[in-house]
Amino acid sequence: MNDTLLEVNDLVKHFPIKGGILRRTQALVRAVDGVSFSVRRGETLGLVGESGCGKTTAGRTILRLETATAGEVLFDGTDVMSASRKKMQALRRDMQIIFQDPYASLDPRLTVGESIAEGLVIHHLGNTQERRERVREALIRVGMHPSHMQRFPHEFSGGQRQRIGIARALVMEPKLIVCDEPVSALDVSVQSQVLNLLRNLQQEFGLTYLFIAHDLSVVEHISDRVGVMYLGKIVELADRLELFRRPMHPYTKALISAIPVPDPLKRRERIILKGDVPSPINPPAGCRFHPRCWMARDICRTVEPAFEKKASGHWSACHFADEVSERAA
Ligand code: SF4
Repeated sequence: MNDTLLEVNDLVKHFPIKGGILRRTQALVRAVDGVSFSVRRGETLGLVGESGCGKTTAGRTILRLETATAGEVLFDGTDVMSASRKKMQALRRDMQIIFQDPYASLDPRLTVGESIAEGLVIHHLGNTQERRERVREALIRVGMHPSHMQRFPHEFSGGQRQRIGIARALVMEPKLIVCDEPVSALDVSVQSQVLNLLRNLQQEFGLTYLFIAHDLSVVEHISDRVGVMYLGKIVELADRLELFRRPMHPYTKALISAIPVPDPLKRRERIILKGDVPSPINPPAGCRFHPRCWMARDICRTVEPAFEKKASGHWSACHFADEVSERAA
């Protein structure tokens, strides 16, 4: 069996901005602008970046919840973008998503049991009794009581609702779960419980996660490998430990510097980035990060750095990747 479950090649998603009487395309929002990576079976790939960097759009486009502008997505060897309706239905069972907002992702009119069973009904899986049993099992797996089936989402806390969201995905027995900022809306104390639950379920069921977050410290706790996105592109990708020990992109180094260190004797110098993320409608020429980069030189303003392998399993898009770890801001 192929070790790679998901392969994404040069994925592009542009949103047109229409204007004028004829509603012609006047500009493009380059939300995802040529993203490539793969996810191995049973691993967690973290995708991290500031809000607006395109990570959520990338996740949604991979699942074909958005139509890709260009590129290729192979899931378990199947081309997702060209899959027929019937094939796509089967793929949707194997590729589930957990949303950021547990309040908005559950229909308030449905009981918890009905919400969790929705996918089973859509895909005609099992009879009423079998579905009930699977829902019951999923609730237990996420640490809730089977009696919660009869209750409504508003009766639960944010953390419990996210557990229900996880049960909704889990009940389909998927191979891949795209976790789209699954703990961002939760209190810090609840975040670690949900992360632990996701990790335990992964071990138990051999799940594969694409874990999207804006917070590198969250990604650090759950990922095997981490991809860092900036303005529609992946700028660095490496094993988690390697990335934190030896970042090879100034943007990654800045994100790491913002993570609080629990030991007061080990202070980390914080790198404050200049300005805001530029508009994805008109990204800067050369390296997209150059207006905010303290290491920028002339070449950065004109020549876009290639996303290249710089060390074993370590990829970066920076002309001066080898200098990043050593250089202070
Ligand atoms: Fe900074 Fe230049 Fe590297 Fe871009 S290529 S990250 S501007 S040093």
